[in-house]
Amino acid sequence: MKNIMFIAPPAAGKGTQAELVCSKYNIPHISTGDILREISKEDSEIGNYVYETLSSGQLVKDEITYQLIEDRLKKEDCRNGFIIDGFPRNLDQAYEYDKILDKLGYEVGNVILINIDKKTLEKRITGRRLCENCKTIYNINDENNSPKVESVCDNCGGKLYQRSDDNLEAFQTRYAMYQEKTEPIIDHYRKQNVLKEIDGEDSVENIFKKIDEIINK
Ligand code: AMP
Repeated sequence: MKNIMFIAPPAAGKGTQAELVCSKYNIPHISTGDILREISKEDSEIGNYVYETLSSGQLVKDEITYQLIEDRLKKEDCRNGFIIDGFPRNLDQAYEYDKILDKLGYEVGNVILINIDKKTLEKRITGRRLCENCKTIYNINDENNSPKVESVCDNCGGKLYQRSDDNLEAFQTRYAMYQEKTEPIIDHYRKQNVLKEIDGEDSVENIFKKIDEIINK
């Protein structure tokens, strides 16, 4: 199957959709945010730098992400397709990604842009909770997406936590970063004729249906 890239502002639901696609099609979900959150737990210079940067809502230095992505894409499980989420985040990263894909003999595949209003995102951001074990995403501000038992994962019984950057202050920075740095990459993919746009205000199920249609076209 074709590779998939998600472009969307923070809390638009790309992580949730990526998980649904992965479980249906059994392909890996490569999220630079997830990889960086793991690194941020390390008690080292790089761990501390990544923790501080993530908490502030700024982007980490490009060079850190390049090696992460290339190493991950070289792994065997990417041969039959993969989802990339959170990368590229600016034009320089998009140019570098073109080179990495070329080097590894991969195509960019379908680039899915999730359009959504900032007001909706502000409502969602403070309610997001993640399972520290299986990474399932919930939203306690949305009754269709809340865990059955408070702070406990429905899937695995793991403990739910809130990301250090899921607060309104860091959100404003993350959203500004998205507009300033990430939105310019949309045109880069539009010109390559690989961009597909989706309305992110719809339900999780309906958005997934549309993504599934794109995959099967
Ligand atoms: P996400 O989980 O995609 O919302 O990413 C969380 C945070 O990780 C972002 O706010 C950035 O600080 C950092 N991050 C994730 N991906 C990248 C990237 N491609 N380049 C730079 N920073 C990134």
